[in-house]
Amino acid sequence: DGGLPSAYETSVAKLSCNLSGWEISNEALQAMGGYGYSTESLVEYCVKRTRGWMIAGGSIEVLKNRIAEDVFGRRFNQRAK
Ligand SMILES: Cc1cc2nc3c(=O)[nH]c(=O)nc-3n(C[C@H](O)[C@H](O)[C@H](O)COP(=O)(O)OP(=O)(O)OC[C@H]3O[C@@H](n4cnc5c(N)ncnc54)[C@H](O)[C@@H]3O)c2cc1C
Repeated sequence: DGGLPSAYETSVAKLSCNLSGWEISNEALQAMGGYGYSTESLVEYCVKRTRGWMIAGGSIEVLKNRIAEDVFGRRFNQRAK
């Protein structure tokens, strides 16, 4: 409150933006049919960008692991054994 956002809050915010951005742009592509898949359309750009940012800057899987740490109050090892 008044300071920097917590790791939990930023993880929830990025996960929410990533999932909603992907769902909306993917639905827009479907509604536009074949033209939505063309590089001429803004929708194609949005689909590619939103999908990429589900990996970049903290993938959705790793964000969920990070959120689970706050939900369960314990750390989860993010590295394969
Ligand atoms: C559009 C785009 C832009 C980028 N821009 C930059 C940039 O500007 N600077 C930069 O340094 N890098 C950038 N990257 C790279 C990005 O940071 C990495 O791709 C990202 O950190 C994931 O690492 P990785 O590709 O090695 O995948 P990996 O770590 O090999 O992951 C592969 C898959 O396994 C999943 N996974 C990994 N670990 C776990 C786990 N513990 N539990 C569950 N699932 C797991 C991941 O979620 C992913 O789906 C960019 C990537 C993209 C797609």
